[in-house]
Amino acid sequence: MCLCQSRKIVSAGSTEKYKSYTLSNYRNIRQIDRLSEEQKFDIDVVARVLPFKTNNYVVNELIDWDNLPNDPIFILNFPQREMLHPHDFDKMAKLLKRGASKKEITNCANQIRMALNPHPAGQMELNQACLDGKILSGLQHKYGETLLCFPSQGQTCHAYCTFCFRWPQFIGVEKFRFSMHDAEELVKYLKVHTEVTDVLFTGGDPLIMRTKIFARYLRKLIHADLPHLKTIRIGTKALSYWPYRFIDDADADDLLHLFDEVIAAGKHLAIMAHFNSVEELATDAVRHAICRIRSTGAQIRTQSPLLRHINDQPESWIALWEQQVKLGCIPYYMFVVRNTGNRHYFSVSLARAWKIFRAAYSRVSGIARTVRGPCMSALPGKVQVLGTAQIKGNKVFVLQMIQGRNPEWVLQPFFASFDDQAIWLDELRPAFDQSHFFYQDELDMLMESSLLSEGVA
Ligand SMILES: *Cc1c(COP(=O)(O)O)cnc(C)c1O
Ligand code: SF4
Repeated sequence: MCLCQSRKIVSAGSTEKYKSYTLSNYRNIRQIDRLSEEQKFDIDVVARVLPFKTNNYVVNELIDWDNLPNDPIFILNFPQREMLHPHDFDKMAKLLKRGASKKEITNCANQIRMALNPHPAGQMELNQACLDGKILSGLQHKYGETLLCFPSQGQTCHAYCTFCFRWPQFIGVEKFRFSMHDAEELVKYLKVHTEVTDVLFTGGDPLIMRTKIFARYLRKLIHADLPHLKTIRIGTKALSYWPYRFIDDADADDLLHLFDEVIAAGKHLAIMAHFNSVEELATDAVRHAICRIRSTGAQIRTQSPLLRHINDQPESWIALWEQQVKLGCIPYYMFVVRNTGNRHYFSVSLARAWKIFRAAYSRVSGIARTVRGPCMSALPGKVQVLGTAQIKGNKVFVLQMIQGRNPEWVLQPFFASFDDQAIWLDELRPAFDQSHFFYQDELDMLMESSLLSEGVA
C-alpha cells in the first residue's frame, strides 16, 4: 500500500517540527521519568565523553518505552554506562559528584577520548585525494570507482548513533572542511580521474543540509561535463531518524525535485540508507518517505553494522532484510564493527558474526541475498568473512576482499588461522604458517609511498 501514488499530492502540511534533545535538555523528554535517577546520572556521565543527540521522532515514534532498558533504539541513541570502560566512567562520575569545574570536566573528557583513538594512524592520510600536489580536504579516494565527499555543512546528523566512529567530527576534534569553494576542485579532480564512476556524499549526514545548500553541490556535479560519472550516492540515516526530511519538512518537495533533476541528467541516484533494526522501518512516516523517494526513480540500498545489544540475532537480520525488500529497498552490506572507541560494547567476534550472517542469509529469499557480509572495512580493503573450514587438520577462516586498495586483490580467497575471539582483521594470523597475507608487501609499499609523497612520514 503506497501512500503516495502521486507524490504531487504531497504532505498534509508540516505536522512534525524537528526538536533535538542533548545532554542539556534531555530531562525535558516526557518519557524520561521512566528512568531512575541513577540511570539518568549514567547518561550525564557518558554524554560528557561521547556525543549524545536524539530527537522528537525517535523519542515518540521509534523507542518503545515499555521495553527499557533493552529497547534497541533506546540503546542506539542514549548513552549506556557500559559504553565507557569502568575506570573512565568512575573518573568522570567522581568529577560530576563533587561539582568539578567545566574546565576539569572538559580536560577529563578529552583525555578519555584521546585514549579511545578512533582513527588508527595512517588511515586518514592514506585515503586523501590530491590535485596538483595539493590535498583536497573533505574528499577521500580509497577505491578507484568511488570518491567520498564530506560537505562541510553535512557533518552532523538528526540524531547520533551511540556506536558511531565518526564522533571526532561531531565534537570538533577533527574537522573536515569541504565547502562549495572546493566543489570547483572536486569537478577538476573528477575531470582528471576518469576511473571514478561514483561520487558518494557522506558525513555525518548530508541530508541534514537544507535542500538549497545540497543542490549547489549536486548541480555542480551533474552540470559539469563528466560522462564517466554514472552514479551519485547519498549516505544517510535520515530515513531512520527524520523521515519528515522527505515528507513535510518545508523543503522536502524541493529535495525530491532535486532527485528528479539528478535522474533527468542521466545519473543513477542511490540512497545508501542506514537501518540498524526493523523498528526503524515500522512507522507510517518512514514508509511514506521510502515511497516518495522511490517515486523519483532513485534506488534505496541499505546497510548496517552488526551490533551487540541491538541486532546480534539472526532473527533481527531476517526481519530487517525481509522488511526492506518488501518496501522496495535493496540489502547491500552487513558490516562488522571495529573494536575501538566505545565499541567494545557493540563488538561481535568474527566467528559469531559469520554464524549470524549465515543463519539469516540461509533463511531469506534470493531477492534479499543481494546483501554482502559480514564485512570489515579494513586498511587493505573491504574484507568479507566467507566462512570457516577444516583444511588438513587446520581450522581456518576463509576470507576475501570485496573492495581492495589494489583491485587485483579483489575476490582472491585467503586464509587465516581460526580464532574465536578475533574481532578484526589485524587480530588474525595467516594460516598454514605463512608469515603474512598475500597483499601485505604491496600494502606496505603503497602506504610508504603515499605517506612519503604527502610529507606525513
Ligand atoms: C565502502 C567504501 C566505498 C564504497 O564501496 P562500495 O563497495 O562500492 O559500496 C568507497 N570508499 C570507501 C573509503 C569505503 O570504505
Ligand atoms: S547517522 Fe551515521 S554518521 Fe550519524 S551518528 Fe549515526 S552512524 Fe554516525
